[in-house]
Amino acid sequence: MKDKTRHQHFENEAGFQGLKVNEGIEQPDAVNHESVKRFLRKNRNLLPVNEYVDGILKGDITLLSKAVTLVESASVKHQEIAQEIIKQCLPHSGNSIRIGITGVPGVGKSTFIEALGSYITKQGGKLAVLAIDPSSERSKGSILGDKTRMEDLSGDKNAYIRPSPSAGSLGGVARKTRETIVLCEAAGFNHIFIETVGVGQSETAVHSMTDFFLLLMLAGAGDELQGIKRGIMEMADLIAINKADGNNFEKAQLAKIQYKNALHLFPKKESDWVPGVLTCSAVEKNGIDSVWSEIEKYRKLTNENGWFATKRNEQAIYWMHETIQEHLKMNFYRNPEIKIMIEELEQKVLGQSVSSFAAAGILLEIYNRIK
Ligand code: GDP
Repeated sequence: MKDKTRHQHFENEAGFQGLKVNEGIEQPDAVNHESVKRFLRKNRNLLPVNEYVDGILKGDITLLSKAVTLVESASVKHQEIAQEIIKQCLPHSGNSIRIGITGVPGVGKSTFIEALGSYITKQGGKLAVLAIDPSSERSKGSILGDKTRMEDLSGDKNAYIRPSPSAGSLGGVARKTRETIVLCEAAGFNHIFIETVGVGQSETAVHSMTDFFLLLMLAGAGDELQGIKRGIMEMADLIAINKADGNNFEKAQLAKIQYKNALHLFPKKESDWVPGVLTCSAVEKNGIDSVWSEIEKYRKLTNENGWFATKRNEQAIYWMHETIQEHLKMNFYRNPEIKIMIEELEQKVLGQSVSSFAAAGILLEIYNRIK
């Protein structure tokens, strides 16, 4: 507050001729800018990096969750801390089997994850369930990995469920999940499930960060092979036909034969693994043990022939390049000057006064100059 009494400073009175006391300036608040206040508010609960790392290595789920939140944050400060945590956790990661699970909505992914997940934790395994949900950007909320959908596992102290990061491009979301795997493994989770919905590109992202890819399918009415993207089937290490129960049991057995025949058409895998087809019922918990024993067989084979390590190395290199591309793209599109110019050039491209390629050239030239 301004001190009104300053105007009446006694040395300004008539008796003090020749001397003038100027009004002092108002002292600003120690923190006066809204953005600084926001920054302080946001970072109020930040801990030193070593506290996160120590907590994670001790298997502290609260600190693990906090660190994952930093990984998912768009704030530069949070990202800096997250990267340091990841760096320190990296030597303690890798000791797991990473399993991608996909299938169309309604196929029974969460029910299946509950069943297989509980099977694993009962045997003493520790399981982290992560998700990549390509629709969450639009729906502003994750539909996958939702705790309420997995009641048994969410109450299981050997399971950690984390919904899909909800903001950003598929590439960005996938990178965050990839980084989260590192933290979960460092926290002692030796089984990682990555769930995704079987509708598009997200399978490729999940495939690129997992050791084993499981495709859940349903037995249809004689049209088993329709509507399944060839690429997704080709990625699968195992197809499990779910809901093989009740009236659906026979149909599921039939579908199994059809899928087996279809898989024969694909080229041999580099891993030497021959993908199989099984039936199961996630609800009745039938066939879950057979699915697990296939995964175990895969792990044994690929450990022996070296493919397990080779694939992980290839994935590490892939993620290095993905991260570079993601950063370059983000820097480019976030640049304020570029933002303005893009709008202008889009209009010109629409008006056909500049070609798309020339417009891209101009933007890249501007970017190279200002960066
Ligand atoms: P998601 O969308 O793939 O995660 O599928 P959900 O796990 O939410 O399951 C969708 C519906 O299918 C739910 O009503 C489940 O109870 C049901 N469901 C899941 N697995 C089975 C199964 O093995 N047999 C039967 N009959 N129903 C199942």
